[in-house]
Amino acid sequence: MKFEELNLAPAILKAVLEQGYESPTPIQAQAIPLVLQGHDLLAGAQTGTGKTAAFTLPLLQRLSQSAVARSKFGGKGVRALVLTPTRELAAQVEESVRDYGKYLDLSSTVIFGGVGMNPQIDRIKRGVDVLVATPGRLLDLQQQGFMDLSTVEVLVLDEADRMLDMGFIHDVKKVLALLPQSKQSLLFSATFSDEIRDLAGTLLRNPQSIQV
Ligand code: AMP
Repeated sequence: MKFEELNLAPAILKAVLEQGYESPTPIQAQAIPLVLQGHDLLAGAQTGTGKTAAFTLPLLQRLSQSAVARSKFGGKGVRALVLTPTRELAAQVEESVRDYGKYLDLSSTVIFGGVGMNPQIDRIKRGVDVLVATPGRLLDLQQQGFMDLSTVEVLVLDEADRMLDMGFIHDVKKVLALLPQSKQSLLFSATFSDEIRDLAGTLLRNPQSIQV
């Protein structure tokens, strides 16, 4: 299979080909069409399989086709939220969002703990389309009144099993409660415990399942 066959927008295809990728990985070939069709997704994939592009590419495409949202702060509202267990992963994912989205008119930022809050607050106030975050800092900012998640259209839980292993289940559930009911949700996990299945069961609507 070739990237050209995945119905990606020319601006996204161009950015992907500039990365030097020749063909989609199996998770990308399976996930991209399903996400573009608007399905919720339960995906079993380890790191190194190309899972980041598997959700980032169709997510960017969907946002590039939907209207800009406004947050209650007046700037652009967050339309895609990616939750990750660690700040390293959050930073990597946001870098991918920027690489793959470089020919699109979309903005992104990353939020994680252990660093000052003020630059993050300023950035959020200016508005972003795609927010990549670890759950704890996201909740801190929300509880202090700096975060409006009411405009989220697509949610990704990346490495959901690690998120639960690290004890973030309560934080994740609190974040989920802040999101609109109507949205597209994608859950990526390397392993599937009962706890992950429970979370998937409450979050996902008629999900398509894929496993690589
Ligand atoms: P991930 O599993 O998302 O952490 O990706 C693992 C690595 O594979 C990253 O360094 C990506 O840049 C690379 N990668 C992702 N998709 C492809 C592809 N289709 N062809 C070659 N490399 C890729």
